[in-house]
Amino acid sequence: MQLSVRAKLFLVSLGLIVAVGGASFIYLEVELRRWLEELVERNLEQLAHGARETFLATPGLQDPEAIDRLAHRLGEASATRISVIDTQGRLLGDSSLDPKGLQHADNHAHRPEIEEAMKGGTGRARRYSTTVGSEMLYVALPYVHGPDKGVVRVAMPLRVVDEAIVRLRVLLVVAGMVGLAIAVLMSLLASHLLSRTLRKLVGNARAVAEGAGHRVDVVSTDELGRLAGSFNQMADTLQGTLATLAVERGRFQTVLESMSEAVVTLDSNQKVTLMNRAFRNLLQLESSPEGRPLTEVVPAPELHKLLEQGTTGAEELTLGDGNAARQLLAHAQPLASHDGTVIVMLDVTETRRLENVRKDFVANVSHELRTPVSIIRANAETLLDGGLEDPVRARSFVEALHRHSERLSRIITDLLDLSRMESGRYKLDLKAVAVKGAVAKSVEAVQAKLTERKLQVLVEADPELEVRADPKALEHVLLNLLDNAVKYSPDGGQLLVRARPLSSEVRIEVEDRGAGIPAEHRARIFERFYRVDSGRARDMGGTGLGLAIVKHLVDSMSGKVGVDPAEPKGSIFWFTLPTIPGRHKRAAA
Ligand code: ADP
Repeated sequence: MQLSVRAKLFLVSLGLIVAVGGASFIYLEVELRRWLEELVERNLEQLAHGARETFLATPGLQDPEAIDRLAHRLGEASATRISVIDTQGRLLGDSSLDPKGLQHADNHAHRPEIEEAMKGGTGRARRYSTTVGSEMLYVALPYVHGPDKGVVRVAMPLRVVDEAIVRLRVLLVVAGMVGLAIAVLMSLLASHLLSRTLRKLVGNARAVAEGAGHRVDVVSTDELGRLAGSFNQMADTLQGTLATLAVERGRFQTVLESMSEAVVTLDSNQKVTLMNRAFRNLLQLESSPEGRPLTEVVPAPELHKLLEQGTTGAEELTLGDGNAARQLLAHAQPLASHDGTVIVMLDVTETRRLENVRKDFVANVSHELRTPVSIIRANAETLLDGGLEDPVRARSFVEALHRHSERLSRIITDLLDLSRMESGRYKLDLKAVAVKGAVAKSVEAVQAKLTERKLQVLVEADPELEVRADPKALEHVLLNLLDNAVKYSPDGGQLLVRARPLSSEVRIEVEDRGAGIPAEHRARIFERFYRVDSGRARDMGGTGLGLAIVKHLVDSMSGKVGVDPAEPKGSIFWFTLPTIPGRHKRAAA
């Protein structure tokens, strides 16, 4: 059974009152009885002396009837039983017996108090009197009246004492009840006061537990006061600890959120407990994944392997498939408390792609260089092995040497250009450039080839049309496209360079009437070393890097490139470049 502090205090004080009351009741009753009996005995003794004196002073007491009468008178006056006994033990007079009874009364010689008095002392006795029907106290004194001797005995029923005790009991019970009522009230008050402080303490403890951070203002110096003091100290320490924890947590959150790596913590059931922004961004999560199994949030088969290990480890995960597939490098580390895991993930898709590009690039470069180098070497060897002796053959070998070393040089120049662009050393100076002017310069640069191939170039561009570009880069782009158009056009054909404004950009097109580019190659044509017909392209002195350079330059000037088929045949290579804000509004409309 659950008892409140108040009830316990009340029960304890009730027990105390009952115990003290009971003990004092027993003690008082015993003591009072003893004292009252002593008092009665002393009184009785005095009465006995008085009775003896009266008896001795009364003349004419030889007559037994006179003795009896006197005994009756004395008995009535003192409200006791007065008996007079002679030396033989016969009753001469008795205040509680009538003459008949007196005659038939027992011999009293052997009553202890009579025997004692006969010997000359004061006889005392206490016993139950069948005559009176109650416990009696007897005091007997000897007397000598002339020749007559005998004993005067005074007796009193102890009922008086019993009555006094009964009254005492009643008084004690009443006093006890009053005391009990007062004590109950007092203990209620005390327990109320005590429990009020305790209730306050409990209330504040609850507030502290709920984080409201209260202190208890108890001013007393008793145990409760000290408890309140300790409580306040505890609350202060708790608040201090909480503040430190909050600072630590804030710091931890900031570090976690500012990390570029995705971090996620799991509980022992591999369910997500905590994650950072990088994790949400990496997985493009819309809802919070907290409480969900990580394998469900990150559906990569390799993740199971990593989590099953349960130890520190790393695994590369593949998310999705095809072009949208992403590579994630995941590191798992069990928590120090052994009830979870921290997983750090890094998107390595781009790194892996670049690694592949680099590998392919090295392979392609080696392959591209090997052909001219081996041709140069073979021709030089032929010349050395006697080819020089035949001037006609020697010339053709030297021409081949020249052609291939030029090709080698072009490849190297293009490669250097690309690498300069990619490393960021090729600084673009973006400004307003007149498209028509740039086109004219590039046409001029290929003029010799145009004349040689009897080709015509038609330029359709508004002389005022400007784009935001680097002039050199724009010319480089146009030159590469024109160069290709010249290379892949039949002799005596026509080329078209067109520039037209769109809403916020300008589209520049270079069109030829060549063989065109089959649809399946169009998407890859801007990759390095990609050629539609590699043999033919190489023969034409192409490096396979021209369009890669075009794409790179246009990209870095915030434009787009592409190729469309021309009608009835040929290709349209196009690129866009941003216009200068505030110009060509009329054209755009
Ligand atoms: P190359 O130096 O070999 O011309 P490019 O990167 O400039 O290298 O071009 C890549 C490939 O695209 C060429 O090998 C060729 O197959 C194709 N190509 C480029 N321009 C044209 C064009 N105007 N007409 C047809 N094919 C073209």
